[in-house]
Amino acid sequence: MKIPEKINLANLPTPILPLSYMKNELKDTEIYIKRDDFSGLETSGNKIRKLEFSLKEAIDRGSTTIITCGGIQSNHCRTTASVCASLGLKCHLVLRGTGNSIDGNLFLDKLFCAEITFINEHDYTYKRNELMESIKNKYESNDEKAYIIPEGASNGIGMFGYYNAFLEILEQEKNLGLEFNTICIAEGSGGTYAGLYAANEILNKNKKIVGFNIYNKNADVRSEIKNIIVEGMQIASSDHEMNYDNILINSDYAFEGYGICSKENIDFIKKFAAKTGIALDPVYMGKAMYGLFSEIKKENPLFLKNILIIHTGGLFGLFPQKELFF
Ligand SMILES: *Cc1c(COP(=O)(O)O)cnc(C)c1O
Repeated sequence: MKIPEKINLANLPTPILPLSYMKNELKDTEIYIKRDDFSGLETSGNKIRKLEFSLKEAIDRGSTTIITCGGIQSNHCRTTASVCASLGLKCHLVLRGTGNSIDGNLFLDKLFCAEITFINEHDYTYKRNELMESIKNKYESNDEKAYIIPEGASNGIGMFGYYNAFLEILEQEKNLGLEFNTICIAEGSGGTYAGLYAANEILNKNKKIVGFNIYNKNADVRSEIKNIIVEGMQIASSDHEMNYDNILINSDYAFEGYGICSKENIDFIKKFAAKTGIALDPVYMGKAMYGLFSEIKKENPLFLKNILIIHTGGLFGLFPQKELFF
């Protein structure tokens, strides 16, 4: 196992804090929150951990331009745009949607002077990789060297961001004098889950890693995660016999799909904010936290004793949905 090199971009380690929300009602469960939303400001959230690895590879290859893609309010694209600006790289984003409302992450993409190509949902689903290749060719015919990062930086190299985060959690367990039985995250493009899962398996830690699918309840999340891990293990020259039977994905809180949140879920986010001072976005963290508390209420045995939920960021995605709240 040879973890690839990275550049340091994130503010690490991120703190782990106890969460007192609904503590009296939780019986045998203690919840802790790992504030990966403190990983930066313009670069806050989980994507920066993956980009530490992706951008190291890009820079080592002499790249001058980074091309990536995501939804119109992509946290990944905003983080990439910010980091590219700080490193003196050009950034070209392929975004699903239109530029009609310049708010939240899209506003920041523009502030960081990213070049943006807007495409519709159909083309995003079926043609985005082709399109990114053609954009790459265009840059390269102008003597630039371009590097493509897939959606969410969820590939073999990006996965190591959360492989390392797992090691960071093990260190923090020692300092805190406790062990987490279950680690929960919001699951979208799978790279965060893949990294945590691979580390847990390889190091034989027997934690339960639970991903709350926020994207699409019918998506074949398992095989996406598996493909990322297979690629990552190749990069690390690992001959570990990976067991994929422990992948735990809960799709009950994906609701109608990406970016769409239920009324009860919005009410939960409001109540949670009022009682904890922590803001959750309706796209990722709001669903995952609501899922966790709903499952605890149902006395799901996966969520007993010490639970760690990773706050993967997403604050800027809250603003464009403000009309849902008040
Ligand atoms: C992207 C994102 C996730 C999901 O991470 P993946 O690695 O894509 O599964 C979770 N939370 C937030 C806030 C994100 O931006």
